[in-house]
Amino acid sequence: MTSCNTPVVEGMNVTTNSERLFKLRQEAIRFMLVNHPLDCPICDKGGECRLQDLAFEFGIKENIYHISSQATQIDYLSPLIERNNNRCVRCGRCVSICNEIQGEMAIEWVNHGFEAEILPRGGYPLNCEFCGQCIAICPVGALTNRLFKYKSRVWEMVKVPSVCPYCGGGCAIELNVRKNKVLRVTSDDETTPNQGNLCVRGNFGFGFIHNNNRLHTPLIKRRNDQVPVSWDNALNAAAEHLKKIISASGPDSVAGLGSLRASNEDNFVFQKFFRTTIGTNNVDSPAHFNYRSLERGLEEALGFPGSCSSFADLEKTEVIFVIGSDVRAEMPPASLKIMKATRFHGAKLFVANPISTKLEKFSNLDLRYRPGTELFLITGIIKAIIENGWENQDFIKENVSNFKNLKKSLKSITIQKIAETTSVPAEKIITTAENIAKKETGCIVFGYNVFTHAQAKEVVANLVNLALLTGKVGRKDCGLIPVITKNNCQGMLDMGVMPDLLPGYQKLEDRKTFEKLWGKSLPKKPGKTAEEMLTAIEKGEIKALYIMGCNPLMDFPEPDRWAEALEKLEWLTVQDVFQTEVAEKAHYVFPAATFAEKEGTFTNGERRVQKFTAAIEPYRNALPDWKIIQNLSQLLGYDMNYSHPSEIMEEIASLIPQYKDLTYEKLGRKGIQWPLQDGEDSPYIPLKDLKLSFSSLTFQEPKKVNSGKFYMLTGTTFFHSGTLSTYAQGPNILGNKAWVEVNEEDAKSIGLNEGDNLNISSANGSISAPVKISSVVPRGVIFVPYHFREAKVNKVISRKNYAEVAITKG
Ligand code: SF4
Ligand code: SF4
Ligand code: SF4
Repeated sequence: MTSCNTPVVEGMNVTTNSERLFKLRQEAIRFMLVNHPLDCPICDKGGECRLQDLAFEFGIKENIYHISSQATQIDYLSPLIERNNNRCVRCGRCVSICNEIQGEMAIEWVNHGFEAEILPRGGYPLNCEFCGQCIAICPVGALTNRLFKYKSRVWEMVKVPSVCPYCGGGCAIELNVRKNKVLRVTSDDETTPNQGNLCVRGNFGFGFIHNNNRLHTPLIKRRNDQVPVSWDNALNAAAEHLKKIISASGPDSVAGLGSLRASNEDNFVFQKFFRTTIGTNNVDSPAHFNYRSLERGLEEALGFPGSCSSFADLEKTEVIFVIGSDVRAEMPPASLKIMKATRFHGAKLFVANPISTKLEKFSNLDLRYRPGTELFLITGIIKAIIENGWENQDFIKENVSNFKNLKKSLKSITIQKIAETTSVPAEKIITTAENIAKKETGCIVFGYNVFTHAQAKEVVANLVNLALLTGKVGRKDCGLIPVITKNNCQGMLDMGVMPDLLPGYQKLEDRKTFEKLWGKSLPKKPGKTAEEMLTAIEKGEIKALYIMGCNPLMDFPEPDRWAEALEKLEWLTVQDVFQTEVAEKAHYVFPAATFAEKEGTFTNGERRVQKFTAAIEPYRNALPDWKIIQNLSQLLGYDMNYSHPSEIMEEIASLIPQYKDLTYEKLGRKGIQWPLQDGEDSPYIPLKDLKLSFSSLTFQEPKKVNSGKFYMLTGTTFFHSGTLSTYAQGPNILGNKAWVEVNEEDAKSIGLNEGDNLNISSANGSISAPVKISSVVPRGVIFVPYHFREAKVNKVISRKNYAEVAITKG
């Protein structure tokens, strides 16, 4: 009887170990070893191999059975993963994880019986997402990590608990360290919220930590060169220079840009530095151009500035509506749950996006809409629900106000008009509406194309309308889930890196508590947004800019205008891990430590605050961001004096209501989803904590692009995350150059071949990239990923989720 599939029945006696069982197991292991090469000394799995452990446990010292078999070829062709089927014990775990968890189905069983083996579908080389999960699950050394090959024996390394620094999924990872070097990343399937699942970036993207181009010493600009100096020299010079600017032009002549990737502690200290040490609210971040609209939309429409639900809810919910997001690439943990919900729990899935995404394979219906028409499409679904009387009348009557106004604002528009504008057939809109409305539980998932919409705040408010109309908030397995592509976007906003709100989204008028604790009066008037900073720099009103871990020349619209404006600054300080293009322009450059070299917390897309620990020493002279800011602050006369980031967290917990009672000890391995309720975390936000009122909407019809022109879209790809992953060897092996995806039919009609150079120009600017012919984009649409420096998409797309472009073969 096999224990794993024999049902337990009343009265059954279960023996888990006996002499007979020992012998049976010993025999089973012997059979496994019949054709297993005894190459443990050169196998990377040695020391953590299940078969090796079992052979030891059952005292097997030699192979007593022999067969003549031919060795299979080792796969040296596929990137990142090496397959050695000679070591394979045919357990099938890799096929299961690839199929059932990752939904990729990239490997399969071939042949039967003794000849059975596992091969990449379609043959070598392996062509998949390279999530690396098959390596993690393989009990033996049949699948190994090429980046780790021969780097260390596993017992020589220590595993340091940490959090992935890439997307808003916030997967818990372990940095495997030897001699102050991170050699690989693993994750534990029992103690982590991600159940040990990682994506390619988490598994293979850690290489940036040891990139040779890391900034390692402070730099000061002398004439046109940046010269290395000591920390004392750099900080003293920067402080003296800044003092002069403040005394001549006042504190509002100084501004700062915070980081979506830095820790909560770093960002908290950064905004505090501006409000106390300098005395201005001029502090913002790249979120101004995207995620801030999400926060504003949710705060205004629902009274809650983040996801009111959790990834876990996605798994058990009955209907999922995804709009404007390639969830698989943007925030993989949410997509794993969505795939599981559809395949194992019968959830209905509706995916609306202008280009094809992986989730469509699992959807009941895909709604391919014209770029920029998100607001119309959601309105169509709402309209169909109301016209058919499918709204949740009891829920609305009991909980939600303003229903009449919502109905009124929809009067002037018809579903036919919406179908025409969006290019989504009316029947598809109605079916989606019926399913969202009639299922008892449901989640709405929205991402990059929503945050970057010209009316992003209104789109989010309309999604809230849809959730309220169908009663899909305030309960388990219901809610709105934003798909966040940068790891600490939620945390940075929670920490108050915004010109108009204090930490915890508290109003500037409510600054008394802060003033008391910080011993300083805080500025009353709101500061300048990132966009307003640009104009103020051009006008000479802002003379000093402190940039921490962000890059306006890659992340912001109008990079050329920024490049010119930065030249006008009297004081530009860039604090970063790498010498970016903006750091090259700086008067002072401060080298910062990576997440692997310091301690702190990140808050992920489901409000989960998680702690990471220092695994290695900071690279040469690099320092944690909070420490650099504190040192500068002391020289400027405001005495910040934290000796450890846990003290910053204590202050955060005392000032930010959502983080009340949080301490490093309480966070544990799984972290905590804020706000703490009776000492427990909040996987979903109950109705009593939400504002429940429909928003009336006004919207402009998006113009169609002119004939002969194309829609250009951008976004993240599965192998990269922002520009950070372009400094890491793993993701770069899979692709390190920009490309433009063009529909097959369009390519044929223009006479484009794979690899041809394509010039792309909009009213804002031009770029060029080699063509990739693809069925992912529909006719009339092209896609260029935003990671690569040689094709800066922010030159072409500005303050919208698409650009109208002309394309020519170049
Ligand atoms: S790396 Fe991931 S996607 Fe590729 S074969 Fe392994 S499990 Fe499947
Ligand atoms: S998980 Fe490893 S041992 Fe098991 S079938 Fe796959 S390659 Fe073979
Ligand atoms: S990038 Fe996101 S999904 Fe991938 S391992 Fe990191 S946190 Fe997890």
